[in-house]
Amino acid sequence: MRNQQATKLLFELSRPGCEATVLPECDVPARPIGELLPAEAVADAPLPLPEVTEPDVVRHFVNLSGKNMSVDTNFYPLGSCTMKYNPKRNERLSSLPAWADLHPYQPEASLQGMLEMLWHCQEMLSEIAGLPAVSLQPAAGAHGELTALFTAAAYFRDHDPGRKKVLIPDQAHGTNPASAAAAGLTAVEVKSNSAGLVDLDDLRAKLDETTAVFMITNPNTLGVFDPQIGQITKLVHEAGGLIYLDGANMNAILGVTRPGDFGANMMHFNPHKTFSTPHGGGGPGAGPIAVCERLAPYLPTPIVVREGDGFRLDFNRPKSIGRVRSFFGNVGVLVRMYCYLRTHGAEGLRRVSENAVLNANYLLARVKHFLPVPQGDRCMHEFVATSSKLKAEKHISTMDIAKRLLDFGFHAPTVYFPLIVPEAMMIEPTETESKATLDAFAEALFRITEESHDLLAEAPHTTTISRPDEVLAARQPRLAWSPEA
Ligand SMILES: *Cc1c(COP(=O)(O)O)cnc(C)c1O
Repeated sequence: MRNQQATKLLFELSRPGCEATVLPECDVPARPIGELLPAEAVADAPLPLPEVTEPDVVRHFVNLSGKNMSVDTNFYPLGSCTMKYNPKRNERLSSLPAWADLHPYQPEASLQGMLEMLWHCQEMLSEIAGLPAVSLQPAAGAHGELTALFTAAAYFRDHDPGRKKVLIPDQAHGTNPASAAAAGLTAVEVKSNSAGLVDLDDLRAKLDETTAVFMITNPNTLGVFDPQIGQITKLVHEAGGLIYLDGANMNAILGVTRPGDFGANMMHFNPHKTFSTPHGGGGPGAGPIAVCERLAPYLPTPIVVREGDGFRLDFNRPKSIGRVRSFFGNVGVLVRMYCYLRTHGAEGLRRVSENAVLNANYLLARVKHFLPVPQGDRCMHEFVATSSKLKAEKHISTMDIAKRLLDFGFHAPTVYFPLIVPEAMMIEPTETESKATLDAFAEALFRITEESHDLLAEAPHTTTISRPDEVLAARQPRLAWSPEA
């Protein structure tokens, strides 16, 4: 049964005279607002704010919060995006007044605990990356890509200004070419071979004296660790280029191998993927980067440095590309990441990856019998199934399956990515899920593949909205109340 009850906007709930607060009688002489504020600061008419009671407000937002799926309410096997459970202790710790009440304009001497925490974050990420220098400033993975490419561009301006080309495999995340373009570099696509790995001949053909960077996601977006990585880094380095490692898939290799050890010169981390900080929904995030010695002088300012027993912000970095984010980055997110890293420790982080890979292989082994997995029988932390056979035989698309999963209480996997697999369904269970959850998901997926086209074409049947026009919703979102609507 579809939940027909639409949620009204607060403006639609508004009734004149309702209010949520009762202020005490004013006990000082009242003065008109115009006497207290300059004329340009005073509105011509009162704002048309909703007039509602406190229970109206609470119910409105609590009901709204329940309309979304989240990793706290449902299994969320979104490939590439690593939707692992966010431990609640990290929320509790990050909201302690010792962190939450700090102000970035406080003198450094009174921020020593926070600076020490950030310094440890730099050190731990450097160790995990196998790269010596870290900036915590970028506010998302994509922002980390952009920042690292800025450092590479600045490095080449100093050393080899003709290098402006960024080579990117055809299965890469869309942010890779976007970051290259935003950094003023030119993105050039490198093909994948039939096994879904980098086509070395195509890479060789495109490497030349204008190549600045080769960006690679490894494990790649098919969930396969590219075993040619040694050859790839050798080729790129011999051609004078640098290797960028897109760290979105670090959840598969923590403590097992290090990007710096397999040839990467720079990388980003996605704390909201790998280190269990909340996915921001557009809110504050973090995308720290780690770089090699050559690029270190170009990192954003400031960096936290240790001096004797104390810590300070180093602004004296003449080659730095400057700031990419105000203050110290999104510290609240970094505190959660710090808690996660310290909770697990080195041994625990390796177990995270081992269990993520185990869970993904278990699910792959169950799913491949009814949804083919073109890459084969083994994967890292995620795998890509395809429903192209179902599409040909029963006109059931990946979108139909994804929509129908919502009726079974599961968030859909990533669909139609990577682009090189038709009717792709990219499944990543993460290490935080139990065998029972994986079994229930595999069974739901199997049942759906047996269902009729008519049932699936109208799915989901149990959500408030079924199949919105996604383009219209993105282009003309109705976010605010207006009298005409
Ligand atoms: C998520 C992702 C990104 C972008 O990271 P954000 O933190 O979402 O900006 C880049 N590359 C890959 C492969 C990803 O999965």
